[in-house]
Amino acid sequence: MYRRSIAFVVACLMMVACTTVPITGRRQLNLVSDAQMQALSYDAYDQFLKENKLSRDAQATAMVKRVGKRIQNAVERYMAANGLQDELAGFDWEFNLVEDDQVNAFAMAGGKTVAYTGILPVAQNETGLAVVMGHEIAHAIAKHGNERMSQQLAQQFGGQTLSALAGAQPSVAQNLIMSVYGVGSQLGLLKYGRTQETEADRLGLIFMAMAGYNPEAAVDFWQRMEQQSGGQAPPEFLSTHPSAGTRQSDLRKFLPEAMKYYKAN
Ligand SMILES: [Zn+2]
Repeated sequence: MYRRSIAFVVACLMMVACTTVPITGRRQLNLVSDAQMQALSYDAYDQFLKENKLSRDAQATAMVKRVGKRIQNAVERYMAANGLQDELAGFDWEFNLVEDDQVNAFAMAGGKTVAYTGILPVAQNETGLAVVMGHEIAHAIAKHGNERMSQQLAQQFGGQTLSALAGAQPSVAQNLIMSVYGVGSQLGLLKYGRTQETEADRLGLIFMAMAGYNPEAAVDFWQRMEQQSGGQAPPEFLSTHPSAGTRQSDLRKFLPEAMKYYKAN
């Protein structure tokens, strides 16, 4: 642990690669720039939309876009109020509903967000959808994808930079970015770690609350998710999520903070 933290500090000093997660203040080591993550995410997102069908349910699609836009506005207000607006540089937000039975959703670097039709029955209504989209967008704001990409480059690709990998093996880089965000069905999809999950829950509650959705709905939503997953949920909602009991108690712990934002609306 001690050696790891020394290495972390040295890496932070040498490479100026240390970033801080908004709200939680956790320091993270990101070897990949936002601009690189966004560029690769934008390409991968376009590719994903070509390979998947958008929902033809106009009402549900409008709901996804409305929730996304309201959370986007909340994030922008939060970041501006805390002098963090530069963190949103290069963002090109987009919200889509994709026709797919998987219980899944994701948000990539730069705000490219998808909800699958399969998650709508679990969301039940617009507030439930705000829980899941708030959570996913929180992963993007907290740069959890960059973090995982940094780890993968170090562990699997001998510390290559992302641009070197993307230049030499574009399809490998594209698969990697998809797996980093838990998208698709290929083997080797990565899971967010527990710290990242808990962080996304906390940030997500605040963003949904600022967007005018009652964050108390998150407790029931995650309970439904837990009941429904039964081993079949995609990685983003599988077992590395905090165990059900831990998540429930964490959510209750984070709620008073989020409720302040909700009531301030
Ligand atoms: Zn998550």
